[in-house]
Amino acid sequence: MTEILLRAVSILQQAINIFFHFLTVNYFRRIERPSLASLTMKHIVILGGSYAGISTAHRIFKQAAKIGPLKITLVSPNTHFYWSMASPRGIVPGQLADGKLFQPIAAGFSKYSARQFEFILAKAESLDVGAKTVGISGGETLDYDYLILATGSHTRGHTPFKGLGTTEETRDALHDFQSEVTKSKTIVIAGAGVTGVEAAGELAFEYGHEKEVILVGLSRLGRILFTECYDYYFAIAP
Ligand SMILES: Cc1cc2nc3c(=O)[nH]c(=O)nc-3n(C[C@H](O)[C@H](O)[C@H](O)COP(=O)(O)OP(=O)(O)OC[C@H]3O[C@@H](n4cnc5c(N)ncnc54)[C@H](O)[C@@H]3O)c2cc1C
Repeated sequence: MTEILLRAVSILQQAINIFFHFLTVNYFRRIERPSLASLTMKHIVILGGSYAGISTAHRIFKQAAKIGPLKITLVSPNTHFYWSMASPRGIVPGQLADGKLFQPIAAGFSKYSARQFEFILAKAESLDVGAKTVGISGGETLDYDYLILATGSHTRGHTPFKGLGTTEETRDALHDFQSEVTKSKTIVIAGAGVTGVEAAGELAFEYGHEKEVILVGLSRLGRILFTECYDYYFAIAP
């Protein structure tokens, strides 16, 4: 009788064990995550080597450890980043050296290997979103997983307030502009927005009464700003 009882208890224990096993089996199961090393390399193509394109590339590299293996290809017709925001001062001869206004793009990424970063001096000419390809000048076609368009905007004519294409084109336009400024007795600036007011202020600061600087604009604010800056400068000038 005792033997039968012990056997029944043993069977019950086994049944309880099996029941709890099935109840908790998923609770302790290890969730397998793919290791970063096993992820496939992603190719990110960025078009445009200026503020947006360059800073986005640097920011992506800072997050690379979380994202997984990636390669960035930066495509731009300019070898150098152009500090266009400083161009209202840059047009005034002798104010800012070329070495300050133009910084080499590739050198800024020299700490990354060729497997991680590539700079291609070219212009994007065609895009096939379905096939995920970009055609660039020179006839090459680039495949991408992600494409970042950072091709920005440009100013009209040969004015060096933004990049004009290649670094040489922008630099030549800047030098031409500087020599025009040197030769001119009267300089008329059409447009009293921030760029116009800033350029007028820089010219007035540099040349004082040597040259006549005329700012033409629809906005009274621009005129007030310029007049006040001008008056302030001559009030404090020795
Ligand atoms: C005089 C001036 C002063 C300014 N001051 C300020 C300021 O104080 N603060 C501020 O926040 N903003 C300022 N701005 C605005 C600022 O310059 C722009 O917001 C900024 O330049 C935008 O940067 P981006 O990289 O988007 O484009 P962009 O600077 O326009 O650069 C576009 C890039 O794309 C490249 N590109 C063009 N076409 C192609 C193509 N087909 N394939 C590959 N590459 C291509 C170009 O060569 C260039 O490298 C100022 C602008 C001007 C003109």
